[in-house]
Amino acid sequence: MISVGARYRGRFAPSPTGPLHAGSLVAALASWLDARAHAGQWLVRLEDVDTARCVAGMDRIILQQLSECGLHADAAPVWQSQRSGLYQQALEQLVARSLAYPCNCSRKDIEAALARLGQDHPRHAELVYPGSCRNGLTNRSDATGAGGQRAVAWRLRTDASPTLHWMDRRLGAQQQDVEAEVGDFVLKRADGCFSYQLAVVLDDAAQGITDVVRGEDLVDNTARQILLQQRLGLPTPRYLHTPLVLGANREKLSKQNGAQPVDTSDPLSALNRAADVLGLPEKTGTLSAALHDWVRAWKTSPAISF
Ligand code: GLU
Repeated sequence: MISVGARYRGRFAPSPTGPLHAGSLVAALASWLDARAHAGQWLVRLEDVDTARCVAGMDRIILQQLSECGLHADAAPVWQSQRSGLYQQALEQLVARSLAYPCNCSRKDIEAALARLGQDHPRHAELVYPGSCRNGLTNRSDATGAGGQRAVAWRLRTDASPTLHWMDRRLGAQQQDVEAEVGDFVLKRADGCFSYQLAVVLDDAAQGITDVVRGEDLVDNTARQILLQQRLGLPTPRYLHTPLVLGANREKLSKQNGAQPVDTSDPLSALNRAADVLGLPEKTGTLSAALHDWVRAWKTSPAISF
């Protein structure tokens, strides 16, 4: 249970890169059920920081789909694109405390640095940034930017951070050594976009989120987010990562691999499929009765710690 006095606040935080699909509806339903089962609040946040991936109009479509499914938020939605000032302030605070630094390494530079360290990595795998620019930019001579300088990204120092341990309400004990497994990670990209990690941590804190309920594809980000919360002196919410919906090829369903939008003209069917993924029983009858029954079933679900 969350500590007495802490009012439950949950959220659903879709990126408006496409309409809700079967996978994202599972996260939406689970986060809504968890908030309702705790008699808490449920907020919706449109995570549109990565402007290159967002598609105009998708935010409205997602809000419409949620509404058609009877998943109503307790406050007006917020858009991350309107919150850059907050993100910039936090970044400056980290830089002033020497916890974040500018970096002008390209992917090739990072690969070369890793090769020099004898750390080969599989092609296409995420690169563990070895901290090349921690003590100053390392690529001054190879200028490519319009002004003769490469644009810089900003990274969080992950050295001097012990292995992070945390408890997932469904998956149990988790741990990650962020420095060894991820490396100094990006807070603001060279193209000026703030990273998902920085924005999500600041918004969860600003909105008083006590419980993050989201898809298991994001579980690997959690240690980075907890480290960032610690560096910024922010509270760590509880986390629950929901099962993924797999496509015909057994790969995670995502907008990127062409997942079909949820058909909300028949919301109960769409919700029944999402409920099934969450181990909840099939319901017939009205939408509101089904949602009501699922809230009760959620409280006693053996798969999660309530
Ligand atoms: N915006 C992220 C996504 O759509 C989810 C972020 C989160 O729930 O922490 O994948």
